[in-house]
Amino acid sequence: MRWARLDGSADIDAWEIHESDRHLYRGRITCPDAVCRVGLHWRKRSKDGKVPTFYGNHLDGCGYKTESDEQIAERELEEVDAVINTCEEMQIRLEPPNGGRTKTKDTPGAIGGTGITHQHRGNDRNVRAGSTGLRPLLRKLISSPEFRVDRMPLTLSDGTRTTIAEGCQHVDGYQPTDATCIVWGKIKTTKADWINSGYRDEKLPAVRMWKDVISNILEAAGVQSVGDLVGWYFLVEGQFGETSAGGPYVSLRDANRIAFLPDSAASAR
Ligand SMILES: [Zn+2]
Repeated sequence: MRWARLDGSADIDAWEIHESDRHLYRGRITCPDAVCRVGLHWRKRSKDGKVPTFYGNHLDGCGYKTESDEQIAERELEEVDAVINTCEEMQIRLEPPNGGRTKTKDTPGAIGGTGITHQHRGNDRNVRAGSTGLRPLLRKLISSPEFRVDRMPLTLSDGTRTTIAEGCQHVDGYQPTDATCIVWGKIKTTKADWINSGYRDEKLPAVRMWKDVISNILEAAGVQSVGDLVGWYFLVEGQFGETSAGGPYVSLRDANRIAFLPDSAASAR
């Protein structure tokens, strides 16, 4: 969490604390929740670019209580596995870019918030479909080579029908298509509002983020600048075009259509 209480009264911003002043705050920072009020610790900016934060053992029911990265990873993988194991079709569910990160433990449905399953009528049959968010999908693609070639039907958020194998392309094997698709891989470089999966002459997929979505994207990823995302995994859904230099790119106007994972979190399990 970014904001907490200093000496029980003033607000303090985790981003404004300097490492050299850490000792000045020891024992003085508490949770702003009127009931919880537990003591909090400060964690500096991490090596993978995550912003400084306050953390501690919040009381059950405290609105600031969040899941750990490991708990989120586990829940998200369970969500995708539940769809794979119980449904005939997977659907993309767009959700706010920080999907799940700030859910408190006692929010109904927050635990094991597996994909919403529902019946819908295909042409002449009933299909049991389960939905997944983009970040859980990215986690599954990273962790399971078998899943990347799965023929399971996949419906994208705009209704495009494809399969996991065809519809989710890794950046290294990107094949141009006019259809909406999902592209995922690692971010090699960034420049201003661009993230690139390769160097310029490699002509690998890139994402151009519209200025007014960048702040949402950074906040959801928990980093301070686009450059902090170098080395992270990304997954984007959209229709790709070509830059004047001949590289594939998508122009991103909707922060909900991209997801990020730091390399460390992705390989945690
Ligand atoms: Zn608390």
